[in-house]
Amino acid sequence: MKQPRIYLSPPHMGGEEGRYIEEAFRTNWIAPLGPHVDAFEKEVAQYVGTSSALALSSGTAAIHLALKLLKVGEGDTVFCSTLTFVASANPILYQNAIPVFIDSDPDTWNMSPRALEHALSQAKGTKKMPKAVIIVNLYGQSADMDALLEICGHYKVPVIEDAAESLGAEYKGKKSGSLGLYGIYSFNGNKIITTSGGGMLVSNDEEGLDKARFWATQARDQAVHYQHSEMGYNYRMSNVLAGIGRAQLKTLEDKVQARRRNYQIYYDELGKLPGVSFMPEASFGKSTRWLTVLMLDPSNTSISPSTVIEELAKDNIESRPVWKPLHLQPLFRDNSYYMHSDESTSDILFNQGICLPSGSSLTMNEMDRIISTIYQLFSR
Ligand SMILES: *Cc1c(COP(=O)(O)O)cnc(C)c1O
Repeated sequence: MKQPRIYLSPPHMGGEEGRYIEEAFRTNWIAPLGPHVDAFEKEVAQYVGTSSALALSSGTAAIHLALKLLKVGEGDTVFCSTLTFVASANPILYQNAIPVFIDSDPDTWNMSPRALEHALSQAKGTKKMPKAVIIVNLYGQSADMDALLEICGHYKVPVIEDAAESLGAEYKGKKSGSLGLYGIYSFNGNKIITTSGGGMLVSNDEEGLDKARFWATQARDQAVHYQHSEMGYNYRMSNVLAGIGRAQLKTLEDKVQARRRNYQIYYDELGKLPGVSFMPEASFGKSTRWLTVLMLDPSNTSISPSTVIEELAKDNIESRPVWKPLHLQPLFRDNSYYMHSDESTSDILFNQGICLPSGSSLTMNEMDRIISTIYQLFSR
């Protein structure tokens, strides 16, 4: 008999979501604005420690509006972490701008300060400075923001923090996503908390967020009749979905704990197998371990990531390789790339990493299935 499916990172309802949805129905706030949207924005801003927040239809929309706020336009360059989901860079293309990719640091797996410094000093030499740097916080861990912000400050380039995967993580006591000029979160179904689909733009630049709110609402001028002097978007979050988000946010700390516990169990059970290691947690902060990533060192084991992924799939368990770096994507084949050293760190992580099922609702039974499948591979 086929075992029930174990997903990589499924939605995990806390129990109160229905009550919030019911409230939206009862009060007939079935619209891309309303009291849940206003409250969700306030609650997220308060949680992450920024003065304002803007609820949107996706994290991708949030990145897009952040780029617009920084006046990124045709032919401009924007630096972006290479080891990430394509959504980090697609909005650069929406603005007809050109992404330049920056390698990872092996200690954090996030943007390498050394590679960034190299890229910026070259940009200065050619007098083609980027309009923005998009720093991604991968798999629930903050990048080394102090080092990166110092470099960007020196070259006077503003930072957008893509914290889609790191809501709930900390960097030196501050919430991940609150350190750049703009931060973005995603509430897609696979993220640590979800609204089924949605995103948030956060910042202390209240004027900027007001402008972004205007663009996200079809750029409607102040007038009773419909009047428009600028091009806009339909990017607002539904009041029904914001209700789900409010209930989910209340359970965020529990979800962080559950995902960190998943990691600890994987580490305890699999960490001593030959050639096995895990994504490191940098000492500057606290990762949410949104996904637990296991690494296989080919000099110590002949078992490859694809073998593990296939073996888990046979038992109806979903696992994935690490994000394929954007500089390796056919879409970006002509774009520049700056490596951490004479070796590309992100290529190594892509070739050796496996994202294991990491949902906050994972049961002990399910973990046993995953762990014993991997164990068996090593005892063949
Ligand atoms: C999920 C994700 C996004 C996009 O968020 P959506 O809400 O799906 O648009 C952006 N960046 C990273 C790193 C992500 O993982």
